[in-house]
Amino acid sequence: MADKTEIQPREQQESNDRLIVAGTWYGINPTGKYVGRPIVQLSVSGCNLLCGNPSNPFEKDQEELEPGRNAKWVCHSISEWKNGSKMTPEEIFDYWKKHIDCPIDDIGGDIPLVIGGGEPLLPDTQDQLTDLFDHCSAELQWDDPDICIRTNGTFEPSLKMRSYVDHFEVSIKLPSSGMKQDHRIDRPSIKRFVDIIDEKGWSVDFQFVAVDDRDLNEIKKIANTFNIPKSKITVYPPKTDDSETVETLQGLIMEYGFRVIEPEYHQWQSENFDDLSN
Ligand code: SF4
Repeated sequence: MADKTEIQPREQQESNDRLIVAGTWYGINPTGKYVGRPIVQLSVSGCNLLCGNPSNPFEKDQEELEPGRNAKWVCHSISEWKNGSKMTPEEIFDYWKKHIDCPIDDIGGDIPLVIGGGEPLLPDTQDQLTDLFDHCSAELQWDDPDICIRTNGTFEPSLKMRSYVDHFEVSIKLPSSGMKQDHRIDRPSIKRFVDIIDEKGWSVDFQFVAVDDRDLNEIKKIANTFNIPKSKITVYPPKTDDSETVETLQGLIMEYGFRVIEPEYHQWQSENFDDLSN
């Protein structure tokens, strides 16, 4: 079982009734099932991992973060999820009505709602998110909303969460994240997500940031151990000028038969992110 030590903003430890929102934006989705489609994303604060092990995680400038012990890349959103604003469901909904440039009635309908982080499936965060979904459902008369959760796969979604969400993007961390294996791999949670693949009404994709053959070999091991279909696996290689690394990765990915998304594409970030930090 993974160690569930959470690295969270202080406010999150003090208040369980309001979600801490790192930011929200309306824009074109760069990855995953909804790639190329307009979405509303809500990013929550707090994560149980700290990918990249940077020695200075609270450095304001994300560009200054250097990978620490055993890590080859650094989480690109630490500066977002380490902060945030405590908000009730009503306040989040009102914020969207006033500040998001899409018809409010389309959220969860024609415009999918994507929840990222940080880690949205931290236990308290799940409860706060389902309170938000309850509120949206009442306001927008949701029937079968289009909601996606982006998770690191170390927590199982609650039944209530699953009643709202129809797509999970599970980004399991590999050795290059610098995280210990028993922190980044939670076997019951991964098994639960694999089980959901075949259950009616849900879809699940597994995503991996892989930088070397050690990572790719671990993806292969995880896929075999948990019987994850290759069609459900997408690999995101790093952006690098090292042509030898690129060729090696391309060769291995072709050999293993995984889907791959080019770095130039997946590193495209929304410029519309509304940072809601205090
Ligand atoms: S799990 Fe995701 S949000 Fe958390 S530190 Fe790793 S990359 Fe960042």
